[in-house]
Amino acid sequence: MREQIFTFGQYLHRKFGTKVSKVPVSISGFTCPNIDGTIAKGGCTFCENDSFSPSLDRARPLKGFFLNLSSATNPYLEKQLEQLEWQFNALSQKLHNDNGADKFIVYFQSFTNTYAPLETLKALYEKALSLDNVVGISIGTRSDSISDETLAYLAELSKQTELWVEFGIQSIYDATLERINRGHDSSNVQETIRKAKALGLNVCGHLIFGLPGEDKAMMLETAKVAYSLGIDSVKYHPLYVVKRTALANEYARGEFEPILEELYLEVLTEALLLKPSYVSVQRLSAGIDDETLIAPLWCKEKNSQLKAINGALKSVGLKY
Ligand code: SF4
Repeated sequence: MREQIFTFGQYLHRKFGTKVSKVPVSISGFTCPNIDGTIAKGGCTFCENDSFSPSLDRARPLKGFFLNLSSATNPYLEKQLEQLEWQFNALSQKLHNDNGADKFIVYFQSFTNTYAPLETLKALYEKALSLDNVVGISIGTRSDSISDETLAYLAELSKQTELWVEFGIQSIYDATLERINRGHDSSNVQETIRKAKALGLNVCGHLIFGLPGEDKAMMLETAKVAYSLGIDSVKYHPLYVVKRTALANEYARGEFEPILEELYLEVLTEALLLKPSYVSVQRLSAGIDDETLIAPLWCKEKNSQLKAINGALKSVGLKY
C-alpha cells in the first residue's frame, strides 16, 4: 500500500469541500528589486520573466511604468484592477470548464508581488477577494521585499480569508545564492519566514534542485532547513535553462551542468520522505514545452516527466 502525499489540492478540498484552483495573474507595473536596479539588474541568473506565464502578454500595455516600495503615486491603479479582473475571469472560466473548479485562489505569481506601496497592494488584494467564487489569495514574493507593515496587514487580512505568502527559498547556501545573483542571503529568507509564521501566516516555500555547484546532500539540507522554518506548503523545481538568461550564457560557456533526471528524482523522493506530513505539496517538478527551453531536455516532455516521477515515487512507497 503506497502512502498518499498530502497535496495542496487535498488541503483546499478538505477546507472548502469542493475543487479549488489557483488562478495565476500578472499585474502590469510590478517588477522586482533584483531587476530594476534597486538590488541588482538582470535578476536571478535563471530568470526570464516572460517564461513564468503566458498571461504576462497582458502586462505589456503599461510597459515603462514600474512600481517600487517608495512609489509616491500610482496613476495606473484602475488599469491594474481592470487587468486583474480580466485575467481572473478568463482563466477561472477555463479552469471551471476544463477541471471542474468551483472556487478559486487568486495567485499573484509574476515578479515580486509585495514590491509596491501598501495602498496599491491593498487595493489589488481586496479586489481579488471580491471576485466571484474567490476564497483566497496567494502572493508570490521575495523575502527582502515585504515590509513589516505589509506583513502586519496580511496577518490581519488572513483572519477573514484563505491567505498564503510564497517565498523563493531556492537554497540555504549563500555561495549558491550569490552565484545565481539572488540578491539576498539565506538568513534574510529564514528571518522573514519566521516572522510571517509568528504572525500566523500560511507560507509556501519554493525550492530549486540542481542549482550550480550543489550536490545531493546540499539540496536535501535545503529541504530540511525549509521544513524546519515551519513552512506549510512546498514547491519543488529542477533548475532549467531558458533562452535570454544569464544562465543560458553560463551553459553555453560550459560553466553550468543541468541536473540529470535520475538525480532530480533521487533528491525529490528523499526530500518527500523527509517532509513532515502536514506540509502540503504544490509542485513536484517544472518544465517548459516551447522553444525557449535550452536544457535539460527532460524538462520538455511533461508526460514522460510525470511517468518518471510516478515510477520514482512508487519505488519508495509514495503516490501523488
Ligand atoms: S526574484 Fe523572481 S522575479 Fe526577481 S529576478 Fe529572481 S526569479 Fe526573477
